Amino acid sequence: MKILLVPDPILRQKALKIDNIEEEDITIANKMMNIMIKVPGVGLAANQVGILKQIVTINFKDDENSKEKKYILFNPKILSYSKETVIMEEGCLSLPDQYADIERPQKITLEYLDIKKKLIKKTVDGYEARILQHEIDHLSGKLFVDYLSSLKRNILINKVKKQSKREKENGK
Ligand SMILES: [Zn+2]
Repeated sequence: MKILLVPDPILRQKALKIDNIEEEDITIANKMMNIMIKVPGVGLAANQVGILKQIVTINFKDDENSKEKKYILFNPKILSYSKETVIMEEGCLSLPDQYADIERPQKITLEYLDIKKKLIKKTVDGYEARILQHEIDHLSGKLFVDYLSSLKRNILINKVKKQSKREKENGK
């Protein structure tokens, strides 16, 4: 399992809802969690490892003192968004070293199936709401750079392309 970078076309495809969560899906989710923590990253969607299934992994700390929140979501769906928005800097494991300020709703209500196939419905805000919106976007083939002007978007994508080319030439 490896993390795909832009402009890999799989990142632009829609992940499919899982009708029945099988052992295989749980294995994929656990592998995603491990690869994400290793990089390290705070969120990962299955498209990013070339699997078109609605799976997201999350692992982050709100701040220095808080406990880490680490969990897996199957078939996550955002039910509602707050009117209030907030601007935060975002990055993405599929666009290494590229960051941009993105405006999104401050709070969301979502539902998903957890690792025990239990339906969870909850409202989250702040950093957690930010990560989840970014990852759930991935499942429909959307990237954070899509919120930027096409000029800015292409600059960031081209930087990743150049970096990948350089690494290939260096035999990395
Ligand atoms: Zn991402």
